Amino acid sequence: MQHSKNIAVVGSGLVGSLLALHLKQKGHNVTVFDRRPDVRMVEFSGRSINLAMSNRGWKALRQAGIEEEVRKLAIPLYQRAMHVNSSPVYFQKYGKEGEAIYSISRGVLNRKMIDLAEAAGVEFRFEEKVWDVDLSEAKLFTGDSEKGEWKEYDFDLIFGADGAFSRVRHKMQRQSRFNYSQHFIDVGYKELRIPANADGSHKLDRNSFHIWPRGEFMLIAMPNLDGSFTCTLFLPFEGEHSFERLTTEAEAEKFFSEHFPDIKDEISNLTRDFFRNPTSALVTVKCFPWTYYDKIALVGDAAHAVVPFYGQGMNAGFEDISELGRLEEEHVDDWEAIFREYQTLRKPNADAIAELSYRNFLEMSSKTADPDFLLRKKIEKKFAAKHPDLWKPLYSRVTFSDKPYAEALKIGEEQAAIMDEVMALPNIAEKWDSEEVEQKMISLLKG
Ligand SMILES: Cc1cc2nc3c(=O)[nH]c(=O)nc-3n(C[C@H](O)[C@H](O)[C@H](O)COP(=O)(O)OP(=O)(O)OC[C@H]3O[C@@H](n4cnc5c(N)ncnc54)[C@H](O)[C@@H]3O)c2cc1C
Repeated sequence: MQHSKNIAVVGSGLVGSLLALHLKQKGHNVTVFDRRPDVRMVEFSGRSINLAMSNRGWKALRQAGIEEEVRKLAIPLYQRAMHVNSSPVYFQKYGKEGEAIYSISRGVLNRKMIDLAEAAGVEFRFEEKVWDVDLSEAKLFTGDSEKGEWKEYDFDLIFGADGAFSRVRHKMQRQSRFNYSQHFIDVGYKELRIPANADGSHKLDRNSFHIWPRGEFMLIAMPNLDGSFTCTLFLPFEGEHSFERLTTEAEAEKFFSEHFPDIKDEISNLTRDFFRNPTSALVTVKCFPWTYYDKIALVGDAAHAVVPFYGQGMNAGFEDISELGRLEEEHVDDWEAIFREYQTLRKPNADAIAELSYRNFLEMSSKTADPDFLLRKKIEKKFAAKHPDLWKPLYSRVTFSDKPYAEALKIGEEQAAIMDEVMALPNIAEKWDSEEVEQKMISLLKG
């Protein structure tokens, strides 16, 4: 058993609320601060992002004893449904039979997690913005310093779970030898909605992740429990096809008619929502160190925000909590050792998922409709099914496993090099499922 500490968590997002629950279960006194109002009390805005939960996320929820509660809010997606212009929809299974990622609304999940943490005894202080942190004394300052209306709190430990633009990290950045980078991609996103049919059923297959890949941009749709789909349009900010070119309802209407004719009419209030809903940016944040002695630690997006194209941002944040839990078992009250190992072990994996997420952005938008890419996938799938001991696809290593992301990245690169050689074989399109190709892959793997 750990000795009880007085702990602050800054941020009641998904990672902050799971961490708070975990710490409470360990017997600590936990206070969560959030600058926003209680999400359970506010109406949903136009930004109801859907998230894909996969193995790493479920593992952390299982460890906190809340997996079953959360599963009730999620819809399994077994496959991608590809909507390529002028072709019938085709499906690509994500993994082996029964393997799925799960669509869940961020708002719904966040409300549930706060409920569960509060029921366990965590104290939430909403609308209380943290504006300063004394790192060495573990003090928090909240409120409005300019108006002189602020409060000071003393804690034993403080966790920064305050997202990609973390205030806690901002304070750590002023320390010597603190490394930090942020990189915005030139693609932004906008949420739209496909409502349910009149009888409450879904308008598209409810157990698929729908993608309309269009080269440098794409539309995706994920199902909600109420029969609707949340769509996300990923589009460059500038250029030929871009947000800056869509400034009138007529332009937006024409863009959707040209590029998404099969789904355009199903999107509710398309032109109104297109201009009413915000256009948001996507950023990768890297930093190090993530901790300050035995006092302060960053978790989730505050430590490692990634672009969303592998569906792993939240999953990686939840995995931070699993790892902290494992290290607490090992080092019990030695928080300095817990924090030191936590950042040493997690940092290479955070960098790896950042890289994989960025690469998947290129893959999802441009390659998913490319014949060479599809042939690679076909060869890989057949080989993996026949030789599961020799080949596990990269997507499965990231999504359906809890092995380190850095290992997935490394093996994925080795596999990509092998596939390059296989794809260079003469007439590969005709003989892709031949004995010759299979033997070639075995020899490359063993060589
Ligand atoms: C379009 C999109 C799609 C995504 N899809 C997926 C997906 O499919 N799967 C997946 O795993 N991940 C996905 N993600 C990533 C995922 O949403 C994030 O990784 C996750 O929400 C991070 O949670 P967090 O708790 O670390 O941070 P946040 O959710 O950002 O929460 C931070 C909290 O801190 C509070 N806060 C900030 N500053 C202060 C302050 N000074 N004082 C007090 N409180 C403060 C904020 O109000 C907020 O409540 C996606 C992200 C985007 C943008």
